[in-house]
Amino acid sequence: MNLVRAAFRIAVVACLPVAVAFSQDAPAPVTVVHCPKLFDSAAGKMLGPTTVFISGDKFDKVESGTQSPVGATVIELAGATCLPGLIDDHVHLDDQFGKNTYAEAAHVNFADQVLRSTLYARRTLLAGFTTVRNVGDTNYDTVALRNAVAAGTVIGPRIFTAGPAISTTGGHADHTNGLSMDLQGDPGPMQSIFNGPDEARKVVRLHYKEGADLIKAMPSGGVMDLGTNGSGPQMTEDEIRAIVETAHDYGMKVAVHAHGAEAIRRSVVAGVDSVEHGTFMDDQDIRLMKEHGTFYCPTVYTGQFVAEQAKKGAYPPTVAKKAIEVGPQIMKTVTRAYQGGVKFAYGTDAGVYPHGQNWEDFIYLVKAGLPPAYTLQMATINAAQLLGHDDELGTVAPGKYADLVAVPGDPLDDITVMSKVSFVMKAGVVYKRDGEEVLTQ
Ligand SMILES: [Zn+2]
Repeated sequence: MNLVRAAFRIAVVACLPVAVAFSQDAPAPVTVVHCPKLFDSAAGKMLGPTTVFISGDKFDKVESGTQSPVGATVIELAGATCLPGLIDDHVHLDDQFGKNTYAEAAHVNFADQVLRSTLYARRTLLAGFTTVRNVGDTNYDTVALRNAVAAGTVIGPRIFTAGPAISTTGGHADHTNGLSMDLQGDPGPMQSIFNGPDEARKVVRLHYKEGADLIKAMPSGGVMDLGTNGSGPQMTEDEIRAIVETAHDYGMKVAVHAHGAEAIRRSVVAGVDSVEHGTFMDDQDIRLMKEHGTFYCPTVYTGQFVAEQAKKGAYPPTVAKKAIEVGPQIMKTVTRAYQGGVKFAYGTDAGVYPHGQNWEDFIYLVKAGLPPAYTLQMATINAAQLLGHDDELGTVAPGKYADLVAVPGDPLDDITVMSKVSFVMKAGVVYKRDGEEVLTQ
């Protein structure tokens, strides 16, 4: 540990007198990071010693070798491998499942839940995930969290959020599932529940109005709700098409939670941008996803995690039964979908497992047979493409946000080093150094 710490140090070299360094003729102050290795996410290759120049919140230039320009702040990352800031395209920052989750719904106030999300956001950033896509919250609270992080009042990753997931009556995101009839009411579009294409369009427009960046829809059953249907279709193709057409009109992408083959097929032909989980994806689905260029976010670790938790008695019986059936299948699907040419983006379902362990998917994806370099591309350039923000995120390149992380070792030789992110910079600000948080507030 001490060796690692000693290897990371910051040094200001060759400081000129301030008056000279900041005179009108002198270039703006820059920070340079010395990376012994840098993962080139566009090419999927590891580069040797590289100097990354940062000016303000953006990368300025990237040059091979070790350079220490006069007046620059130099960050030495000896022994480390640098990567673009990591991106997790499937998180739930306002929630974290625990043994009391289902009972808590009755007595934990919304404000308490929101305050917890600030801790989860910080843990996520410190794990090296500088950007996340939040695919389902309680009541647009992650829109507020996104804005608070952007304003600098909360420390966390850059957030793109879907607001609440949308669902049909009794579907995976109908939070009145399992309640007594007295408490159920009749949730409708204002509660993100719809039936039929017209209401689907209304739900999407309400999300736009409330500031969502994308839409998350639930066209199949799911594991963690109290309904019995874990994977069957819960939306018609017409309904999904209405969601996609309306969302795309407003510049919003559509992510779908889908476990069963039929729900996946309907979603892909209706034009969704990503399939999440995809557990029982069949050969036809794989062909269609490749043909349509639909991304797959496999959430592979969560599949394993929920099956293990279910066996330990952590969930109610209805949930446990589904978790044991669904979870272990995802590993097999990941292998088949990769071999079938489907494009993957990194999405983990953080919140179902504890926030900050977002790196676990790297381990399981490699176990499922994916090349380590591809798993790193999934969490950088591919995830940025799925967000529709690859012009500013996902690679270390001039003009992009200066999001840079480092791990002690080479993840292409040993993927487990992704669990030891020791340096985190987001938009040019250092949040973690020598493996420890840097206080910025
Ligand atoms: Zn999820």
